[in-house]
Amino acid sequence: MLASLQKYCKFEDIAPRTYDRCRGMFFSTVVTADAKMFACLHHRQDPDYLIGDMRGEGKTLEEVWNSYRKWMVYESIDVSICPPFCRNDSFNGVLAELDKDMIHKEFM
Ligand code: SF4
Repeated sequence: MLASLQKYCKFEDIAPRTYDRCRGMFFSTVVTADAKMFACLHHRQDPDYLIGDMRGEGKTLEEVWNSYRKWMVYESIDVSICPPFCRNDSFNGVLAELDKDMIHKEFM
């Protein structure tokens, strides 16, 4: 509840995104009830964000997760059109910072 309050207070002062990639999709991918894997919950059932269809394609979770399609979806995501304060917003900000060149990055 506290985390939600903090998040929704930010709606009064929406700042531009500090990242241009959704690295968070590798940590909070969504598998829907019909056995489809999508990049995130906000874009579930959108074919552009479909990583794989385990039921329809007869693939295992591991096969879908390790598919080339996952990287295609990752490369195609345009975060500028994603909803503000989405599921991975804060996570993406942190991961973008960690991706920058910095001294002793390995200790982060
Ligand atoms: S809405 Fe957020 S979590 Fe979903 S793809 Fe866009 S940046 Fe990633």
